[in-house]
Amino acid sequence: MANRAKNIRYIVVHCQAGHGTLKSMQDFWKTSLGWKSPGYATWIDYDGTRHRLADYNAVTNGVAGFNSQCLHMSYRGGVLQENVKVAADTRTQAQKNAILLEIIDMMHWLHENGNDLQNVMILGHYQFSDDKNKNGAIEPWERIKSCPSFDAYEEYAFLMEKENVLYHKLKLPKNR
Ligand SMILES: [Zn+2]
Repeated sequence: MANRAKNIRYIVVHCQAGHGTLKSMQDFWKTSLGWKSPGYATWIDYDGTRHRLADYNAVTNGVAGFNSQCLHMSYRGGVLQENVKVAADTRTQAQKNAILLEIIDMMHWLHENGNDLQNVMILGHYQFSDDKNKNGAIEPWERIKSCPSFDAYEEYAFLMEKENVLYHKLKLPKNR
């Protein structure tokens, strides 16, 4: 498989828009949507455990129309436990930490594979405009309008500014 790192323009954060198990979500992808590849490369449980569902080099299904340019991750939750129709930032502190580590791992992978990171943005799913995202294949199980239930662009802007000087200074250990 050709390395797709140089084509990546977006690190995209999603929420599951539910609280089901990883297996229930994977079953839904396969059985109901007929997907051969997962929705995200990485799924983050309440305790911060990062489950790798696909290699970064494999295209996943997070934002129809953009997936060849995206690396996707999702956290479990993003809606109220008692009413899954209501979007809510339900991230635990462990999930917040894990999302940040996952972004940094993705940035490491991109950098190691020839992407200079100058044109990579970190976005929430809803920050892709609706008119560009004509294919609603990811609905209805996921509410695109609020996913991931917080402003990922604002929260992670510090990683994108100053041309990733911070990234080079952090040198966080890779945990996989
Ligand atoms: Zn999403």
